[in-house]
Amino acid sequence: MAHREAAASRNINSTSGLQKSNPVSSKPILHPTSAFYPINSAYEATPSPHHGRLRIAIIGGGLAGASAAGSFARLPNVQVTVYEQSDAIREVGALIGVMVSGMKSLSRMLSPDSLDALQSVLYRGENVDGINHRHWRTGEILTTAISPHTHRQMQEGRCTRVELHRVLMKDVPDGTFVYGKKVVQVEKVNKSNEREGSEMKLHFLDNSTECADLVIAADGLYSYVPNAKVRYLGRVSYRHVVPWETVQHIKGLPTDTSSWRRNGEVAFMSPLVGGYSFTCMDWDPLINKVLEALPNMEAYPLEAASWLGNLVYDDMVAFVGDAAHHFGKATAGGGGVGSSLAFADVRALYLSLWRTYDPRYNPSPTASKTPYNVPYALHLYNETRRYFLKRVERQIGYDRLDTMYIAAAGDDEVEWMRRYRERFTINWFILEDEVDAKWQEVEAEERHHWPKKFKASI
Ligand SMILES: Cc1cc2nc3c(=O)[nH]c(=O)nc-3n(C[C@H](O)[C@H](O)[C@H](O)COP(=O)(O)OP(=O)(O)OC[C@H]3O[C@@H](n4cnc5c(N)ncnc54)[C@H](O)[C@@H]3O)c2cc1C
Repeated sequence: MAHREAAASRNINSTSGLQKSNPVSSKPILHPTSAFYPINSAYEATPSPHHGRLRIAIIGGGLAGASAAGSFARLPNVQVTVYEQSDAIREVGALIGVMVSGMKSLSRMLSPDSLDALQSVLYRGENVDGINHRHWRTGEILTTAISPHTHRQMQEGRCTRVELHRVLMKDVPDGTFVYGKKVVQVEKVNKSNEREGSEMKLHFLDNSTECADLVIAADGLYSYVPNAKVRYLGRVSYRHVVPWETVQHIKGLPTDTSSWRRNGEVAFMSPLVGGYSFTCMDWDPLINKVLEALPNMEAYPLEAASWLGNLVYDDMVAFVGDAAHHFGKATAGGGGVGSSLAFADVRALYLSLWRTYDPRYNPSPTASKTPYNVPYALHLYNETRRYFLKRVERQIGYDRLDTMYIAAAGDDEVEWMRRYRERFTINWFILEDEVDAKWQEVEAEERHHWPKKFKASI
C-alpha cells in the first residue's frame, strides 16, 4: 500500500474542489429577520449600501472562514471579503464529523436550502445515529455514543470535508472570496481624523494592501496573526475516502460508524453518502482487510499549539476556528470537534456583532464610523468562548490522564476492560455545547458591566 504523506492541511491537494472559475451561485442576501434567525431581532435591517459600512476582512476560506462569510453577509451594512491564499478551496482530509454542537450552530446559521443540503450529505448510520466504540482487538462494542434526547436531524453526522465546504459556500454571496491572496502582515493604522479612528491594514504576498474595520483570522492552525508555535505531536492520522464498491466485499463490515480504541490510539471507519472513510491502525482483523482493499492512504500529521487565552486583540481582530484554538486537529476534545468549535465561534461572533448594530445609525460627520460597536462585540465574543475553550483544553489533559490509567493495565485484559469502563466517558458538555445559550447568558450580564462610554452606542 502506498502511504502518502499529505501536505499540511491548509495547503490542499485534490482536484475535486471548488474552483475559482466556478463561483458559487447568486442568491439574495438574507436578513437577520428571516424566519431561521433564532433570537428576537431588535431591528428591521435597512442596509444603506455605502455609508458606514463595516468592512469585514476574513483571512482564510476554510470551514471557519466560509461559514463566517455566509452568515456575516446577512448582517446589515457590512462588506465582507474573504482573502484565501490558495487558488481554489479543495479537499483536505477525508471525513468531518459534525457534532451535535455543530449541528446546533449550523441549523441557526445556514439558510433553509443550505441546511437541507447539509442533511442530504450527512451520514448517520443505519441502525444507530451515534458512534460504536469497539474493543481494539476483538471489535466488541464497548460503548455507543449517541446523544440522548436529540432528534435524528440534529444528531452528529459525517461527510467529506469538501461536501461540507460546498454546503457552507452556498450561502456566500458571489464575489466575497478573493483567491490567491496570502496575508503576510496585519497592522493597526491610526487615522489622523478622530472620527475615523483606526483601521486594520492587511498586506499581501503580492505587495498589495487592503483596509478593514474588523479582521477575522480564520487562517487555521498555522495562523499568521497570533504567530503561535505549532508543534508536531509525534503521531499521524491516516485518512482516506474510497467508493463504497472498494470495500463492500469485506464480510462483517459495519454500516455504523465505528471507532476502535486502544490506549490513546483510535481506528475510525464510517460509511459516507457515496463512499467509505477509514482512519486506521492494524488491530481487529477487519481493519487489516479494509487496509488491504484501499488503493492508498493519506497521512496527516497531528499538531497542536498553545492556547492563546483570548480570541480577540486590538479591539479589531477576532480569531475563529483552528486559528483560535490550537488543540490539535483530529484530537480536539477527544474526537474531532474542530469544525464544530469553529462553527460555534462564528455563531457567537455573529450574535455579538448583531447585538451591537444600531439600526438608527445616521452617517453624519459627528457619528461613529460604522453602525457597529466592534470593541463591545469582540468583548462579548471573547467572554462567550474563552472560558469554554479553556475548559475543553483542560478536558484534553484529563482524557490523556485517563488514557494513561487504562493503558497501565497492560496485557491484563480483564483489568483493561474494567478500567476502560470506569474511565472512558463521552464528553457531552463539549459535543452538545449550546453556544446561543452561553452567548445570551454573557450578553445579559455584560450589558450591565461594560463601561458606560461604550454602552452609549448600543
Ligand atoms: C486528519 C484530520 C481529521 C479531522 N477530523 C475532524 C472531524 O472529524 N471533525 C471535526 O470537527 N474536525 C476534524 N478535524 C479538524 C478540522 O478539520 C478543523 O478544525 C477545521 O478544518 C478548522 O477549520 P479552519 O477553517 O479554522 O482552518 P483550516 O481548515 O486550516 O482553513 C484555514 C484556511 O486559511 C487559509 N490560509 C492560511 N493562512 C493564510 C494566509 N496567511 N492568508 C490567506 N489565507 C490563509 C488556508 O489556505 C485555509 O484555506 C480534522 C482535522 C484533520 C487534520
